[in-house]
Amino acid sequence: ELSLTQENIEGALKAAYDKYKNIDEGANADYIPALAKVDSDIYGIALVTTDGKLYTVGDISSEVSIQSISKVYTMALVMDQDGTEELVTNMGVDATGQVFNSIVAIEQYQGAEMNPLVNAGAITTTSLVDGKDGDEIWGKILTKYEQFAGRKLTVLNDIYESEAATNQRNQAIASLMHAYGHIDNNFLRATDIYTRQCSVGVNAKDLGVMAATLANGGKNPVTGKQVTKTENVPEILAVMATAGLYDDAGKWLYKTGLPAKSGVGGGIVAVSPGKFGIAVISPPLDAAGNSVRAQKAIADISNALGGNPYQVT
Ligand code: GLN
Repeated sequence: ELSLTQENIEGALKAAYDKYKNIDEGANADYIPALAKVDSDIYGIALVTTDGKLYTVGDISSEVSIQSISKVYTMALVMDQDGTEELVTNMGVDATGQVFNSIVAIEQYQGAEMNPLVNAGAITTTSLVDGKDGDEIWGKILTKYEQFAGRKLTVLNDIYESEAATNQRNQAIASLMHAYGHIDNNFLRATDIYTRQCSVGVNAKDLGVMAATLANGGKNPVTGKQVTKTENVPEILAVMATAGLYDDAGKWLYKTGLPAKSGVGGGIVAVSPGKFGIAVISPPLDAAGNSVRAQKAIADISNALGGNPYQVT
């Protein structure tokens, strides 16, 4: 039975939660020192249907930093502002096949033929948000995330300070993207705003609602508010499908068919268009930088509920 009944959803969530609760694979990210200190046992799942019903299991109140999941929502903001073509002509919409902070991927095509969900493309995307100064730009970004989540959000300052003190590699990436003409003179400001956006605190429920808003054509199914243009959602989901789990995006799509996005804070969001958004938080990551439990739990739940958009039943 593949239908989205309360019984099926609750059963699928509980089964996946229990199955993976005690696995002991992966490790917290530690290249950002504060991430190594986050409680590795945080584990929560939230599924939100496009009619706004919330289903949860485990820890849905502990906040972790959103990290790279933020890239999706800044991309949505820039598409709302400029349409969908600017990103294609600036950094591209192709998977790099490289790690998320690859410099080789920049060098290969001088900052083109990449996408808004790897660091080079994401910092560039953040640099494209219009505003008279950094504060105005930051305000627009945070407001967009809040509209997707349906509540006020704040920066986790310990994470921000830790990453800001150690983000020389991202500064180098931004410098290269500036040198190749993709980012204007404010490339270091863009890096700082990007670091801030990655440090926004979210819980599993927030991420579930943020995913469900994309599943629902850009209309938050809980608040009822249209928060990004419906016409851009197919392009947002396409970039998530091709590059959301970095160099493991192909494997992930093969297994689930779901557009998704991971972050090194331990969250993953995934979208079953027209049906539901789902999110899992669990900090231990695999070698590609994707949460081990989150990948397994989302794949099981989606497959149990017929979430794969390529599956014709
Ligand atoms: N802020 C992190 C970084 O730039 C985000 C990386 C991630 O979540 N993959 O390295």
